[in-house]
Amino acid sequence: MTRAHWLFGDQLGPAFTAPGSGGIPRDARLVMIESQAVFRRRRYHRAKAHLVLSAMRHRAAELGDRVVYVKADTYREGLRRAVGGAPVTVYHPTSRAAAALVASLPQVTVLPARGFLVGREEFAAWAAGHSGGLRLENFYRHVRREHDLLMEGGEPAGGRWNLDHDNREPPPRAARTLGSPAPYRPREDDIDVGVREDLDRWERDGDVSFVGRDGPRLFPADRREALAALRRFVDHRLAGFGAHEDAMLAADPVLSHSLLSSSLNLGLLDPAECVERAEAAWRAGAAPLNSVEGFVRQIAGWREYVWHLYWHFGEEYRASNVLGHTAALPAWWLSLDADAVSARCLSTVLRQVRDTGWTHHIPRLMVLGGYALQRGWDPAALTDWFHRSFVDGYDWVMLPNVVGMSQYADGGRMTTKPYTSGGAYIDRMSDLCGPCRYRPGSRSGADACPYTAGYWAFLHRHRALLERGARTAGPVRGLDRLGDLPELLRQERDRGDSAP
Ligand code: FAD
Repeated sequence: MTRAHWLFGDQLGPAFTAPGSGGIPRDARLVMIESQAVFRRRRYHRAKAHLVLSAMRHRAAELGDRVVYVKADTYREGLRRAVGGAPVTVYHPTSRAAAALVASLPQVTVLPARGFLVGREEFAAWAAGHSGGLRLENFYRHVRREHDLLMEGGEPAGGRWNLDHDNREPPPRAARTLGSPAPYRPREDDIDVGVREDLDRWERDGDVSFVGRDGPRLFPADRREALAALRRFVDHRLAGFGAHEDAMLAADPVLSHSLLSSSLNLGLLDPAECVERAEAAWRAGAAPLNSVEGFVRQIAGWREYVWHLYWHFGEEYRASNVLGHTAALPAWWLSLDADAVSARCLSTVLRQVRDTGWTHHIPRLMVLGGYALQRGWDPAALTDWFHRSFVDGYDWVMLPNVVGMSQYADGGRMTTKPYTSGGAYIDRMSDLCGPCRYRPGSRSGADACPYTAGYWAFLHRHRALLERGARTAGPVRGLDRLGDLPELLRQERDRGDSAP
């Protein structure tokens, strides 16, 4: 072989195979490597392992004899078998570990990353101008302006940059579901059957061990399916995306969320096409501005911001732990044992993760992340758990979201305060508390809500730090009004790491 281009398993869309103009050499042969060692190193959700392997094999089937597809133990071995010592190009990988690997291989030339709206240089220039703090809102406005998204005559469409205020509605009263049209779901094929047989065999042979259920595949594995999912979302579900974006309903875990994260992160969809189609729907009068702005903010704002912060903050960010949290994650959590939990919000969300490898952003932040933060769990171990347990989890996206956003382990480089709340927030935003054996208003006693008690115990533990924060000083003063604080703290200590 003369020249090759290596496609990682999250570089599966057409943008990663277009030849020429800054892309891959025209005469390059494509190479894909399926490494079993990746699955041996960590205990992944089985639905995630299934999705990634299915997507890689679907792409290989589409590319036919343009690709050499190697099943090997490690990437290094796979590359040697596929190309020997021939020169290889690769688009910048999405994890530090993979970036270090390709940098250590003299035959490999790394091309700039694809799959994001904002390039490295553009982010670096923006960051250099914001040394006082890299806040999402400022970055998002920069992206809207520079990439002409939802803009009219240099101003934000509708006159406001931020419509979050309209997008924090609780669920409609007494509703079991939002009533949105159902999301796109793919149909499995022979490739999925083959993947499932392989996963069964690896598990039987004791080579790997998975967690969670691998039911029918729920997320797109090829470009055709991903485009169908995008179309279905924009045409039928985008209009309802905004208002109840933060709500939670036991019988309707998806609400109007797009379910596009795994397709974006596998490279099957390009972020530009997602936001452009959403904007076109607004311009055509098919979706209201609050929904479209909310969706554009998630993709052009949050997703891009998180991607760049991953590289900008450096490898040390992984070990951030300003709150000194070191507790191990309990076994019931690691094994997604939803049935061991009686707190209804947590058992519902853990069940969603066990059964699908997905739940939307508020259960991730306020139910899962909030519980871990209150109990002082090790942020690096929690990041690893999120990475392994979610179909859309990758190192770049998990690290800022968990270490920064959900655990405040970076001391506020990403957020202005720790995100955690008592049961009252969950009660207001969901139907999860109603039949629960715990009461959101109780701090101590047999029916004390673990989130309400955990919230106060967290403020108490970090009082010295939090009373200095502009946004946390007020809540900390509330501790002085709690007559039952000693009892609450004793109860929380006694709970230890048993399931609530
Ligand atoms: P929608 O609500 O429909 O949003 C549209 C898209 O916006 C998503 O598909 C996603 O691509 C993007 N997006 C929104 N918020 C974020 C964000 N904070 N970071 C990156 N992209 C974002 N998202 C992942 O893709 N992978 C993860 O591993 C991941 N881990 C998370 C962990 C925690 C603790 C938190 C709080 C959030 C995490 N997110 C992650 C962000 C967000 O929760 C998911 O992107 C979203 O729930 C996926 O569902 P969806 O596609 O229906 O999203």
